[in-house]
Amino acid sequence: MTTLPPFTAGLHEVGDGCYAYLQPDGGWGLSNAGLVAADGGALLVDTLFDLPRTREMLQAMKRSVPAAGRIATVVNTHSHPDHTAGNALLPEATVIASHATIEEMRRMADGEDLYGKILRDWRSYGEAGAYLHEIMGSRFALTFGHRALPAQGFDEDYELHVGTKLVRLVKIGPAHTRGDAVVYLPRERVLYTGDVLFNEVHPAVTDIPVSAWIAACERLLTWDIEVIVPGHGPVAELAVVRRQRDYFTYLQREAKARFDAGLQVWEAAHEISLEACRGWADEERIIMTLHSLYGEFGAPRVDPLEVLAMAHRLRRKSRGPKS
Ligand SMILES: [Zn+2]
Repeated sequence: MTTLPPFTAGLHEVGDGCYAYLQPDGGWGLSNAGLVAADGGALLVDTLFDLPRTREMLQAMKRSVPAAGRIATVVNTHSHPDHTAGNALLPEATVIASHATIEEMRRMADGEDLYGKILRDWRSYGEAGAYLHEIMGSRFALTFGHRALPAQGFDEDYELHVGTKLVRLVKIGPAHTRGDAVVYLPRERVLYTGDVLFNEVHPAVTDIPVSAWIAACERLLTWDIEVIVPGHGPVAELAVVRRQRDYFTYLQREAKARFDAGLQVWEAAHEISLEACRGWADEERIIMTLHSLYGEFGAPRVDPLEVLAMAHRLRRKSRGPKS
């Protein structure tokens, strides 16, 4: 039985030469990163949402693990800025991501993603703007448009070594995004999932069908894994992947019953019990998940700004108005 590290901010060893950098409470923008070090070399799994946070992380890593001063490779598990925006601080490293992730990052750099558009000019976007500003824009030193894109891409699998350590990158998406890749150390039995796994945080469903994410969970459940560093939330064991799969299948079932009964997403969100996830961060994400599921059931598409506004209302309701 492995002893998992506590969910406290900073660097934790999770296996031989394998580290997790954690940011409680794991909610919006508070992502985890990873470090693999061996024989004087080092690989970084993801950077953070802004340069100050990434700088602080790199300094903490160097203090505990001297090889972190020579990070030759950065893997971006997916395109989202809370896992990639700090790439700019590692100009000497080779950044690797799946081709699908690189394509998504390119679109973001060109200003084509909705969240980026809203965050840049949030006052023009009503309640959706207020929401994204509250959960991200006001809390991080966001940069737009000049992100360092990965120079090295891969389609399905990519193998590399850090010293003598074998590291496998496996594209497991579409799940949370189109290009999600996980970083697997088969000998150490350590897995860095990026946002394919959220632990004690409601998963953030984007425009990918929930059924695809369930399939990705099923695939991971067949692997030999001792420790998982999720994209957000505490370090976990494989059972947490099963729990996330069950979370999605539960919502699928509950949402279908409400959809068939003619309920709107807002009504379904209030009816479906989230008792099993009490205390998890970002409960309002249930709105995005239900919209995605309703879309899979054939409901007409809802304006994404309206979805964000609805999530904002639920967040205020869950947490009470800000004083
Ligand atoms: Zn993400």
